[in-house]
Amino acid sequence: MRSAVATDPGRRRRHNEDAYVCEPPLYAIADGMGGAQAGEVASGLAAAVLSEGGGSEQGEARVASLIQEANRRVFRRSSEDAAASGMGTTMTVALVDRASGTIALGHVGDSRAYRVRGGELEQLTDDHSLVGELVRSGKLSVEEAEAHPQRSVITRAVGTEPEVDVDTFTVEAEPGDVYLLCSDGLTDMVADREILSVLAEADDLDRAARALVDAANEGGGEDNITVVLFAVDEEPVGDTATMPAVAVPEEDDEDTLSGLDPVPAVDTAVVPAEAIREHLERTQPEAAERPPRRRRNVVPLAVLVLLLFALILLAIWGLYR
Ligand code: MN
Repeated sequence: MRSAVATDPGRRRRHNEDAYVCEPPLYAIADGMGGAQAGEVASGLAAAVLSEGGGSEQGEARVASLIQEANRRVFRRSSEDAAASGMGTTMTVALVDRASGTIALGHVGDSRAYRVRGGELEQLTDDHSLVGELVRSGKLSVEEAEAHPQRSVITRAVGTEPEVDVDTFTVEAEPGDVYLLCSDGLTDMVADREILSVLAEADDLDRAARALVDAANEGGGEDNITVVLFAVDEEPVGDTATMPAVAVPEEDDEDTLSGLDPVPAVDTAVVPAEAIREHLERTQPEAAERPPRRRRNVVPLAVLVLLLFALILLAIWGLYR
């Protein structure tokens, strides 16, 4: 396996609240959220769980229990510390099993996993996000979702509730595959076709990782950007990562957030997917049976706009509470 990492705060943020793990055969991305520096604490705690090792489980079971443990750890800290209240993080984890030639993936939130195979880029994860739900239910096109003002509203996060629902699945790895884990700071700024062309043009993974971060910054760099790349080779050539294997966001000397300003997060918010589905069913009861609509329709769009306002208010209310 070869692997590479690049992370950057982007052009608009002072702090980098993304964390990553690049410890073959385990790779992960965590994109933290929360007021003050709570997002950094959340993603750092989650990444640290993965670096601890141990446990006898394999594959998806191991990936799921790592994310569950991260959830317990982040939730406990946010319950103990008023300034960290409501903090959370996305998590996307990949565990390679060379013996069986498979990769177990697990995720919560909108940090994505992609695979490049045969010159095509395939998104492996379904975003747990408001726009992801709307795209899957046929209410938004992928293009509309990319530019949507509420695209950072996620429907699940690690550490915001005592329990978290983790999606896991396993893919067969083939020689030549390249896998990409990334935070939304990449995917909000760089379209999939451009991600593919950057990966196709770069002649090694380190340069590819760096080029993806550069592309996100050129696209605006509105959020922290983190990419983890790993490639499946026919012959193992060792790990070429030049970054430290684990990066957790720098914490202050204090191990707790007490004393920091409890500034509510203004970027990422969590709204349960059930709430979105309920609203969709209530506003358009007949929509569920119909195939996704292609043409724009003025009335449903107006309903959608009202729904989005309601969701924003709900999210703001939740944050202040
Ligand atoms: Mn982000």
